Amino acid sequence: MTYDLIIIGSGPGGYVAAIRAAQLGLKTAIIERYNDRLGGTCLNVGCIPSKALLDSSEHYHAAHEKFAEHGIKISNLGIDMPQMIKRKDEVVDQTVKGVQFLMKKNKVDVFYGHGSFTGPNEVHIAASDGGEDQSLTGKNFIIATGSKPITPAMMNYDKNRVITSTEALNIKKVPKRMVIVGGGVIGLELGSVYARLGTEVEVVEFQDRILPTMDKDCSKELMRALKKTGVKFHLKHKVVDVKGTKTKAKVTVEKRDGGEPFVIDADYCLIAIGRRPYTDNLGLDKAGVNLDERGRVVVDDHLATNIPHIYAIGDVIRGAMLAHKAEEEGVFVAETIAGEKPHVDYNLIPGVVYTWPEVAAVGKTEEELKAAGIAYKSGKFPFKALGRARASMDLEGMVKVLSDAETDEILGVHMVGPRTADMIAEAVALMEFRASAEDAARMSHAHPTYTEAFKEAALAATGNRALHV
Ligand SMILES: Cc1cc2nc3c(=O)[nH]c(=O)nc-3n(C[C@H](O)[C@H](O)[C@H](O)COP(=O)(O)OP(=O)(O)OC[C@H]3O[C@@H](n4cnc5c(N)ncnc54)[C@H](O)[C@@H]3O)c2cc1C
Repeated sequence: MTYDLIIIGSGPGGYVAAIRAAQLGLKTAIIERYNDRLGGTCLNVGCIPSKALLDSSEHYHAAHEKFAEHGIKISNLGIDMPQMIKRKDEVVDQTVKGVQFLMKKNKVDVFYGHGSFTGPNEVHIAASDGGEDQSLTGKNFIIATGSKPITPAMMNYDKNRVITSTEALNIKKVPKRMVIVGGGVIGLELGSVYARLGTEVEVVEFQDRILPTMDKDCSKELMRALKKTGVKFHLKHKVVDVKGTKTKAKVTVEKRDGGEPFVIDADYCLIAIGRRPYTDNLGLDKAGVNLDERGRVVVDDHLATNIPHIYAIGDVIRGAMLAHKAEEEGVFVAETIAGEKPHVDYNLIPGVVYTWPEVAAVGKTEEELKAAGIAYKSGKFPFKALGRARASMDLEGMVKVLSDAETDEILGVHMVGPRTADMIAEAVALMEFRASAEDAARMSHAHPTYTEAFKEAALAATGNRALHV
């Protein structure tokens, strides 16, 4: 049998593409190298387990730091790390099982094993479920093989004391001290988990600010908030050597622009300097598919590779490494193959950091607007001026609305604060319909809610008329 579509990789890109393709009547197969583990990085060692630990650690931190002020007395507060990890594993297992169910429901054939092209229309599967190896032929293919953490040789990654996010999700005893290499999203989220549980966390970042790709105000606000949780930052510093022993990690750090190196002795060194596209042993040469200089599969505007019936999506191609970006691309390719004319607006893919306060953004940053020479207006509103935030003791952060100086169209929204991961959806919706800041300012927002901060920032952007500041 020849499949209409064969997908290699079952992360949020691959499995969502499979569902949409099946909905559109395409005979679809999906191949996943890890036996019984559909869902990819996101479900197994990424978005879902990290959020489970972020929630658990946030509860502990709130109990430790805020309950007394709320008038709640608690004694014998403690951490049961194995239980915290067990709950996380259960959340992951349930979510993975949900994807298995969705494959069955949509009649997608699932194959467990490492897939590799043997030619432009055939994939070999080296079975990982104890079954026989086999080959499948297809009319169309999607490469959705995702990414892996970057681990430079000099950092001596040993999966024991020198770890990546994957191992950091499974630590069974609260560490005393942890060095995090990289002040990006993954490092800060996992750093937050452990800082809240009482670990001394030190972040080493090469750039002059954390979250270097986000709006500068977000970096500033988040760093201020994380410092209060006890996180220490070494900005403009680089790690020059890491040595792991059975029980420790010795991390040598020096100033980016020169200076005496110093050593941090820690229980763990977490390498979080980014991820690389994963195409190992995929047989791309046999299919004739091109990679770029950074190892990403090259795609055109239709997400087709140089071999027209082979597409690629998600972390393995250009663009933000985000689950919802991979999902949008999965739907896009399935619909394209089915003859539809879909569209993805990359400018409106939101970015979120699930620290506390959360950071969420969509559209252009102030730095990008300046660099592009676009005249803009800016309005900001601090959460400390909001009744809802005062009630919940979440006073850190702000919302910033950037709109076109002439037309008032919203060009970017940047938020640091409570529940901004959810709040950003309103900004995405408005920008999708090309709303103005005035539109946002005129919409009624329920009181008291965190969303009022967005309305107030929009008011501030349109003639400095925020009401509560
Ligand atoms: C700690 C952490 C937290 C994160 N948190 C978030 C978050 O909160 N929000 C967010 O949007 N993103 C988050 N991400 C990023 C997100 O996980 C990725 O962007 C997303 O998983 C990419 O999806 P994908 O489908 O492209 O690839 P992946 O999810 O990486 O899936 C690829 C799949 O392909 C399989 N595979 C690879 N090669 C083969 C082969 N040859 N044969 C068969 N199977 C193969 C792999 O085993 C894997 O299952 C996080 C990542 C990490 C590491």
